[in-house]
Amino acid sequence: NSDLILHVNFELVNLERKRRYTVKDMLGQGTFGQVAKCWDWETNNYVAVKIIKNQPAYYRQAVVEVSILHMLNQKFDPDDKHHIVRILDYFVFQRHLCISFEMLGSNLYELIKMNHFKGLSLNIVQMFSKQILRALVVMKDAGIIHCDMKPENILISTSVKPTEIKVIDFGSACMEGRTVYSYIQSRYYRSPEVLLGYPYTSSIDMWSFGCIVAELFLGLPLFPGASEYDLLKRMIQILGGQPPDNLLRDAKNTSKFFKHVGSIYRLEHEETSEEVTSAYRVLTEEEFEARESKRPSIGKNYFNHVKLEDIIANYPYRKNLPEEEIIRESLTRLALVDFLRGLVEFDPGKRWSP
Ligand code: ADP
Ligand code: MG
Repeated sequence: NSDLILHVNFELVNLERKRRYTVKDMLGQGTFGQVAKCWDWETNNYVAVKIIKNQPAYYRQAVVEVSILHMLNQKFDPDDKHHIVRILDYFVFQRHLCISFEMLGSNLYELIKMNHFKGLSLNIVQMFSKQILRALVVMKDAGIIHCDMKPENILISTSVKPTEIKVIDFGSACMEGRTVYSYIQSRYYRSPEVLLGYPYTSSIDMWSFGCIVAELFLGLPLFPGASEYDLLKRMIQILGGQPPDNLLRDAKNTSKFFKHVGSIYRLEHEETSEEVTSAYRVLTEEEFEARESKRPSIGKNYFNHVKLEDIIANYPYRKNLPEEEIIRESLTRLALVDFLRGLVEFDPGKRWSP
């Protein structure tokens, strides 16, 4: 509602209500609330204000988001060089916690969609990958796990450098060593250790990052699992091999997916498991599915029975490329496969760090 005025009310009982923000537009409707484009009368700038639902669980998680972003911004990235969204302020308005952020533009999913899911050029994939890695380095140093790395949570800057991107949405983030929740990450980007119920570290973000890099190049998700079982099956088909035995032995959910025959773990052929949604933070099943179903439908056999190497090598080349460019790109694609192999690595211990 364009003429809705937000009254900043720091003390809740404040007779001199100052008007600071004017809502101009809605930017996003998330699970945790809504994000509004607002004019800030104090700084004369547009800002994005995330208005959190007035419910204790959302409120608590938003407080975590504020404190984690505050620490990342102030302590680990004071000069704003690591491609993490800047938090500007937070306040309570009519019992809603509100967080204001610097105003950013479209997310990478929208960019891929605008490009009709055809994928981006390797130059751009490389440029974006470097920036995401700079964010992941800081998060790892700070002991923060983002837990929801995906194209929707990476935004393009609207400022002077239009090719700059920033990681947003620390609403699912947690501290390493204080990993309370077992049902995290959006399905397509979910790491094998989270899927299988094995203790996880910041390397789950590196798995998601690998999925994002592949998707930027391919234009479609690498592992568009329709269920957790389907996800695991696709990982095994595309990567070859399966999670290491020690992970399968110690993970809580292994028996939901694998049969233990003799000393060998074998993926069951039947669809054995339903999505476990009960532990996913404060999300209801409907809310979770609503999140996942924002994508266009993808054919069942998309990428089936194809190895990662073949997917990347056989991806159609851009039209009218000169021959020397094709040779150069084919070599870069080999490097991309090598890079992806370091990221979408089943063994969290062997997976590359940022
Ligand atoms: P959720 O946890 O609900 O996913 P997000 O923080 O990801 O919440 O925000 C939801 C959506 O709002 C984003 O996908 C994006 O479209 C929009 N949005 C969030 N932050 C900003 C921002 N700083 N600038 C512009 N748009 C934003
Ligand atoms: Mg989000």
